[in-house]
Amino acid sequence: MRHDIGPRTLILVSDPATERYAAAPAPASLRRVQSFLNTRSTGRPPEADLLAGPASANGWLRALDWPASPRLTTDDLPPLYELRAALQAQLEADRAEGPRTQPDLARHLEKLRWGVTIEDGRLALSPEGEGWRQVAGTVLGDILVAQEHGLWARLKACRNPPCSVVFYDRSKNQSRVWHNTSDCGNLVNLRAARARQREQGLVKGNRSTPAGRLAVPAAPGSSITGSRAANGPPTGGTALPQPR
Ligand SMILES: [Zn+2]
Repeated sequence: MRHDIGPRTLILVSDPATERYAAAPAPASLRRVQSFLNTRSTGRPPEADLLAGPASANGWLRALDWPASPRLTTDDLPPLYELRAALQAQLEADRAEGPRTQPDLARHLEKLRWGVTIEDGRLALSPEGEGWRQVAGTVLGDILVAQEHGLWARLKACRNPPCSVVFYDRSKNQSRVWHNTSDCGNLVNLRAARARQREQGLVKGNRSTPAGRLAVPAAPGSSITGSRAANGPPTGGTALPQPR
């Protein structure tokens, strides 16, 4: 059954690349883009790179709906790796705070051409060429449409750097930063708690540090005693062994 839900008619399909990371899926109009980015290898233990060879790449292609039916050979894979890396860098740069670095996406655009076609009374961008050009042209066309509809900013890379899985942020204030709070959110919070405890361990042995420099209370079970720990609010932090 086909559903007319966008500038193109898309079949509602699952996205195996994204599902293996349990990341929030994008709406159908951005699903090919999200899936393409999540073909990369990440996670713990690492998942396979779905573009590692023609067999897995074509298996991935068949799981999604494409306007033409591209097929990939070994020669199609290197340009797709490069485009994937450039797009991932663009996505991360767009969402980053502070000075912008300009990823090298423009030179990929030079190798692609599109025509404008009409389908059921709607204008559509149709990529020219075959193989990787079909895949790349379709993905970039989807991004163009998503930008016009204000959806692009909701597609994000997980802020846990070794992860960087691409998820769709449906939250009202668009504030999500982890692809999965129970995995990456907890992991990063735990790391931060350990770093704070290490710092407190250093401060304990250094009496010249100005009082009140540390606003973070000691975690329960730590060996830090005295007014700072006693006055701190109760926390749910993880108790870690402290240096003696
Ligand atoms: Zn993550």
